[in-house]
Amino acid sequence: DKGLLTGKAVLVTGASSGIGAAAARVFAQEGAAVLLVARRQERLAALVDELRTEGARAEYVVADVTSREDAAMAVKSAVGTFGRLDGAFNNAGVGGDRTPLHQMDNETYDTIMDTNVRGVFNCLRAEIAAMLEHGGAIVNNSSVGGLVAIPTAAPYIASKHAVVGLTRAAADEYAQQGIRVNAVAPGTTRSEITTDWFARNPGLEDMVNSMTPQGRTAEPEEIAAAAAWLLSDRCPFLTGTVLPVDGGFV
Ligand code: NDP
Repeated sequence: DKGLLTGKAVLVTGASSGIGAAAARVFAQEGAAVLLVARRQERLAALVDELRTEGARAEYVVADVTSREDAAMAVKSAVGTFGRLDGAFNNAGVGGDRTPLHQMDNETYDTIMDTNVRGVFNCLRAEIAAMLEHGGAIVNNSSVGGLVAIPTAAPYIASKHAVVGLTRAAADEYAQQGIRVNAVAPGTTRSEITTDWFARNPGLEDMVNSMTPQGRTAEPEEIAAAAAWLLSDRCPFLTGTVLPVDGGFV
C-alpha cells in the first residue's frame, strides 16, 4: 500500500504539540520521512522516538522560527539528513491573549507577528531555496481567522491574513519552478492554544461550536489529513489556494 507521501522528505514546524504533532504522525503514517521543528526539545525527542518505533524515518531540530538563521539551519538539516526536501508544513504559530483591539499591547502584537508572519516567511524563504532545483510542495497553516474576523484577536487575525498573502505571493512566484504553495485554514481545533483560550474565556467554546455547522471543534488529525493531501502528488494543479478545514464555519 503506497502512502500519500511515500518517498518524500517533509519538514513540519511547530511539531512539538497540537496540529503540528498530529501532522508529524499523519505524514509519517503516509510514508514520509519527517523532520520535526520546534523549541521544546523533550517533546520533539519523545515524538521522534514514537514515530521510529512505528517504523518511520524521523529526526528533529530545535529551532525558533522567528530566527532567520534557525529556519535556514532546520532546512539545511532536512537536506543533510534526507538528501532533499520535498515538502514543508509551516505550522508553528501562537494564539496570544484575546483582548479588545483598543486595549491590545505591543508585546502581544509583536510576538504574534514575529511568530506567525516572520516565522512563516523565514521558513518559506529557506524551503523554497532548497526546492528550486527539483520542485516541491509547501503548506502554510493560516486559520479561518485568515479569511474572516473572529472577535478580540486583531493581531492574530492580521497575522493569519498575512499568511494567506505570503501563500499567494510564493505560489505565484515559484509556480514555474514546480513549487506548489497552499494554505490550510483550520476552524477551531483541539490543541494547547484552544484549551488555553477556552479555559480563560468561559462560554467561548459553546459560542464557537454554535457558529460551526458541524457543531464541534476539529481534531488536530483532521487538519493534518488536509495538509497531507495538499503536500501529496494527488493535486498537482492546486497552488495558491486556501483550504478551509472548518466544519462549515466559513
Ligand atoms: P499549539 O500551541 O499546540 O502548537 C503550536 C506549535 O508552534 C508548538 O509546537 C510550538 O512549539 C510551536 N511554536 C510556537 N512558537 C514557535 C517558535 N517561535 N519557533 C518554533 N516553533 C514555535 O497550537 P496549535 O496546534 O493549535 O497551533 C498550530 C498552528 O495552527 C498555529 O499556527 C495556529 O495559529 C494554527 N491554528 C490553530 C487553530 C486552533 O483552533 N487550534 C485554528 C486555526 C489555526 P514550541 O513551543 O515547542 O516551540
